Amino acid sequence: MFERTINKKIEFSGIGVHTGLKTTVALDPAPAGHGIVFVNPKFAQECIKLGTVIPEIALHASVLKSKSYIISTIEHLMAAINAFKIDNILIEISGIEVPILDGSSINFVNLINNAGIKELEAKKTYLTPVKTLYFKDEKSDREIIIEPANFDKETNSFDTNLYFDYFAEFEHALVGKSSIVGEFNIDFFEHEIAPARTFGFLEQLPYLRSKGLAKGTSLGNTVVIGEDEYLNEPRFENEFVRHKLLDLLGDIGLLGKNLAGKIVAKKTGHSFNRLVVQDYINNPENWKLI
Ligand SMILES: [Zn+2]
Repeated sequence: MFERTINKKIEFSGIGVHTGLKTTVALDPAPAGHGIVFVNPKFAQECIKLGTVIPEIALHASVLKSKSYIISTIEHLMAAINAFKIDNILIEISGIEVPILDGSSINFVNLINNAGIKELEAKKTYLTPVKTLYFKDEKSDREIIIEPANFDKETNSFDTNLYFDYFAEFEHALVGKSSIVGEFNIDFFEHEIAPARTFGFLEQLPYLRSKGLAKGTSLGNTVVIGEDEYLNEPRFENEFVRHKLLDLLGDIGLLGKNLAGKIVAKKTGHSFNRLVVQDYINNPENWKLI
């Protein structure tokens, strides 16, 4: 495999789910070795290169910060970039939040599909842990286990796929428990994961709004779960577990390199997922490139 970028520039705009503000985003092709880089063009000298920054602690979105600006709600765009196994791309955001669009990743997948993928003349490397890594929060029962990629002696090569086994659980009659198992490739992502939308519980909306969040939330971008019914039509019976996995795959994308191996995870959230990137940056001896 070779390093990958997009074939041509992509532009889109829309409102942020938390700020309610309109933002324009441009995705530019980038050369081998460039990496996945975010920048606000107003501060063009302050790029944020994934794999060198620990995401901020934030409850309802994944947030990156540089000296002069922040970029929020990057997870759904990052899940699509991760699914296409893109290594090099420049993401220019004129604002503080990636547009929510329909609350899922499917629009990002369609935009990248339309632009196409370009392979570059550089051998692609993948990130994997040296040995199994455990991230646990016993109080909230959250867990992420990352197992190293398998080495196949017969072919003398690593299996560079990423496998997942994901479990979600909510104390609500309509969502409850569900799990999903599979291999993270673009076909599976496009059909089974990318269309799953952001979801929220109606009873939590006043609290979120009081914290200045969810100002752009609408039935057009969020599956809203009332006391005993959905306020809009779900796309999957277990859309919530698919979206939780989507968020995790986006957050794992903040490693800046495609992960190879297996992830077993349960009840994750953005502020917990960031511990994986934190470990990679603070303990590079736990990780290797294959
Ligand atoms: Zn999400």
